Amino acid sequence: MNLLGMTLAELQDLTERLGMPRFAAKQIALWLYVKRVTSIDDMTNLSLKFREILKADYEIGTSAPVEAMRSIDGTVKYLFQVSSTGFVEAVYIPSEDGERATLCVSSQVGCKMNCKFCMTGKQGFERNLTAGQILNQIISIPESQLLTNVVMMGMGEPLDNIDEVLKSLEIMTSDYGFAWSPKRITLSTVGLRKGLERFLRENDCHLAISLHNPFPSQRLELMPAERGFSIIDMLELLRQEDFTHQRRLSFEYILFKGVNDSMAHAKELVRLLQGIECRINLIRFHAIPNVPLEGLSMEEMVKFRDYLTQHGVFTTIRASRGEDIFAACGMLSTAQKEKRTEELL
Ligand code: SF4
Repeated sequence: MNLLGMTLAELQDLTERLGMPRFAAKQIALWLYVKRVTSIDDMTNLSLKFREILKADYEIGTSAPVEAMRSIDGTVKYLFQVSSTGFVEAVYIPSEDGERATLCVSSQVGCKMNCKFCMTGKQGFERNLTAGQILNQIISIPESQLLTNVVMMGMGEPLDNIDEVLKSLEIMTSDYGFAWSPKRITLSTVGLRKGLERFLRENDCHLAISLHNPFPSQRLELMPAERGFSIIDMLELLRQEDFTHQRRLSFEYILFKGVNDSMAHAKELVRLLQGIECRINLIRFHAIPNVPLEGLSMEEMVKFRDYLTQHGVFTTIRASRGEDIFAACGMLSTAQKEKRTEELL
């Protein structure tokens, strides 16, 4: 069993069960999340006897990436193995000015949401990551200490793994953990009602909603999750929240040629988001095999952005980083999964 991913309350239960003093839980948390040791033997302020007791059933649970792809602009895509055929990706993205370094982390192996434009969705669902496996992506990359931000925008739908995701967020933002400000973390989601309600209630991290089409019937064609929780109902829920202080709300919008890029779409976006403190991030689509969707030119994206901005919706175009390695999210893990499955057969 792994210690990485345990909250302070869970460590307190554990130390009590093992007959260790209560303060040992805080000491273990410090070794795990601040000093980030890779062996229980390194927890030198625990007595030898207690280290041996811990080692009988537990290990730290860190594991290094099994593969890395480097872009000429410094972006690195890491691949982690989490089961015999399960792989997840984490992408390290340093900003051009060198001021920010963001890690995009995964929350599931595969995904149930089956968004039409997503390679991970094509994999189907294999398993949820544990909080430890989510945190391991942050701790085990060589650039770990350089990170300024984390986005839960990698493989999987974080709100479909809400217990482990909330645990990992608690550890990232607690004094006993990484002690990061929630402002350094963004969770990106298609929007699942129960998960979203819990997320809004239980922490203060930033929120990004995958919108991609303001018309519900058309959004449904791109994103089956629209059926379970319509964007209209989701916005009603979000209107009740305060996004002017601590938490920021953004909407992700991948532009697809001839699908969601018309003036009617732009106008409807303006109408839909009226009165909500938010921003839109326009994203360029990276083609994936066997999916008949196309992206827009930069000129066309700028036109769409300008319309929104001129009509009061603060809109940015997400900088394309790591284009030379940017097989879309999920491609590297899909290739590894297929290779590994063939080897096992
Ligand atoms: S875009 Fe996100 S939610 Fe949709 S299938 Fe891909 S990983 Fe899942």
